[in-house]
Amino acid sequence: MDYAKYIKSVMDFPTTGINFRDITSLLEEGAVYRSAIDDLAAFAKSKHADVIVGPEARGFVIGGPLAYSLGLGFVPVRKPGKLPREVATVSYEKEYGIDTLCIHKDSIKPGQRVLVTDDLLATGGTIEATIQLVEQLGGVIAGVAFLIELTELNGSRLLKDYDVLSLIHY
Ligand code: 5GP
Repeated sequence: MDYAKYIKSVMDFPTTGINFRDITSLLEEGAVYRSAIDDLAAFAKSKHADVIVGPEARGFVIGGPLAYSLGLGFVPVRKPGKLPREVATVSYEKEYGIDTLCIHKDSIKPGQRVLVTDDLLATGGTIEATIQLVEQLGGVIAGVAFLIELTELNGSRLLKDYDVLSLIHY
């Protein structure tokens, strides 16, 4: 399916000079949303994933239905102060300052095969931090899946060691 035609591009959002790729217009189309999840699920299945991990907030919109469709668990990665139990944390540099992400320490069992997913790969900072959290807990990255990859930002250079699927490339 030509998923790109369901993505709306919004110039100067959230700040001047950014061409924001809006996935909500794809999510609004039930058959298209389902087809995208089905494609990502086929990839996750081929990589023998045991569990799905996604960062807030748009990673939940992909990872939740993906886990449901495969009958697998979903593990959320969140900003500090959101997860109630003991967490592992990773901090990473963003364009403006440092960001931190957390995962429940007991959510991944050592050796479990983890499919990591988010809506979009830009610089790769978010997904790299998510992968680091999974690996800290002893998880094995089975694959990494996105709706969208912004190729010019070259986030994929951080994912050389992993199998990656992106449904749309800009
Ligand atoms: P990165 O960490 O790879 O630089 O940025 C990716 C993260 O920022 C993802 O979690 C994604 O949701 C968000 N993001 C950055 N740019 C865009 C965009 O143009 N559209 C959408 N939907 N999300 C974006």
